[in-house]
Amino acid sequence: MATTETLRNWSGNYTFRASAVHRPETVEQVQEVVAAVRGGEAGRVRAIGTRHCFQDLADTTGALVSLSRLEPTIELDEVARTVTVSGGTRYGTLAEHLHARGWALHNLASLPHISVAGAVATATHGSGDSSANLATAVVGLELVTADGSLRTLTRADPDFPGAVVSLGALGVVVRLTLEVEPTYDVAQEVHTGLPWDAALANLDAVTSSADSVSLFVDWTGDAVQQVWRKTRVVPGERHELRTELFGAAPSPVKLHPLPGIDPVNCTDQLGVPGPWHDRLPHFRLRYTPSNGDELQSEYLVPREHAVGAIGALRGLSDRITPLLQVSEIRTIGADDLWLSTAYGGPRIGLHFTWLQRQAEVEALLPAIEEALAPFEARPHWGKIFANTGRDLARLYPRMEDFRALVARSDPGGVFRGPFLERHVLLG
Ligand SMILES: Cc1cc2nc3c(=O)[nH]c(=O)nc-3n(C[C@H](O)[C@H](O)[C@H](O)COP(=O)(O)OP(=O)(O)OC[C@H]3O[C@@H](n4cnc5c(N)ncnc54)[C@H](O)[C@@H]3O)c2cc1C
Repeated sequence: MATTETLRNWSGNYTFRASAVHRPETVEQVQEVVAAVRGGEAGRVRAIGTRHCFQDLADTTGALVSLSRLEPTIELDEVARTVTVSGGTRYGTLAEHLHARGWALHNLASLPHISVAGAVATATHGSGDSSANLATAVVGLELVTADGSLRTLTRADPDFPGAVVSLGALGVVVRLTLEVEPTYDVAQEVHTGLPWDAALANLDAVTSSADSVSLFVDWTGDAVQQVWRKTRVVPGERHELRTELFGAAPSPVKLHPLPGIDPVNCTDQLGVPGPWHDRLPHFRLRYTPSNGDELQSEYLVPREHAVGAIGALRGLSDRITPLLQVSEIRTIGADDLWLSTAYGGPRIGLHFTWLQRQAEVEALLPAIEEALAPFEARPHWGKIFANTGRDLARLYPRMEDFRALVARSDPGGVFRGPFLERHVLLG
């Protein structure tokens, strides 16, 4: 049953233009919704997850399909070391289920509230030199394709590396199978005041000093404000705290990434070990903001360009900082998924949490992208970017293969939308 409700994204900065929202309760109903449309402007449909993107990526001139009422399934296969979930499952729900049974995922994003299918579709990532983005855990997926039929893809399928980070262009992903590993504990420590000179001279040593490292900066001054370090620890064993980090001191109190904000909703710090899913995200699962007073952008640059790209952004601090809440620098391992922002080599993520001043942020983004242009910066698919008039194929060696895959799978353009036509499929 379709409704004509007005949907906004999590941030509240985007109102969907789709004419209807379908909330099927079974996979068969998803198939019926998709089969009922046949291309053309009105006959379009796109999947929607938890609406945490900051722009029109998920939107369509036709109808949206949400899996929020689909019967939730989490099927753990301890022998195969996989878990199969319905697409709308949130990472937080999945993480608690796995941990209770002694299993874990390799990493999580900063927020546990996002859907698995939506996060995988945009190459959502956490941080960690040897930790690739969340989509790399996918070993199989099942999607409702343009004619309403179900298609299953596994790693053995030649289309698989193009179909995982799909931006919703290939259909509605109703089930995903992810690799799992035995559960583990993580200890989180925060250091403050890392001098920029020391950070840049020892960047690899800083980011490899724990399993997951995030640098929080505002691009001004002589020092990185905070370094969050998350280290895997063997449950029951004592974790040795790091007293010094290239000139940065351990914080004696729990901190929020934003100075002066109560850290009550942040995951535990001070080196106290806890379950992986209660340390890898920066924010607790139980803290569920219904919307956020912020905008986000992020650019992923090859590791070898990290110091140059950071220098370019520091050079723009007089324009960036007045619009900024905080920036986060993270690392992401390499993968081979065609539209992944880490395709072909490890990346450093340069993230901006902006004040909600959209027009001013949008006016600044072309300058940031000019400054980052020499460093092959790929914009995060789910966040705000400008990409003024450029073909992103210059940054994605397999973009033409992706376009061919979309043309083969969806010749009628059922899953097209304005974002895809502007940035990916071009017209
Ligand atoms: C507060 C906040 C924190 C964030 N933290 C991080 C972070 O740490 N790291 C990071 O990389 N990103 C982060 N993001 C970005 C976020 O992870 C991505 O935008 C992600 O895509 C959101 O998932 P979603 O379910 O909300 O997707 P939506 O915004 O609903 O949709 C995103 C895309 O996925 C597609 N999609 C959704 N469901 C399906 C489906 N069932 N089948 C096929 N396609 C589907 C949509 O069509 C669309 O193209 C953050 C965002 C917010 C708001």
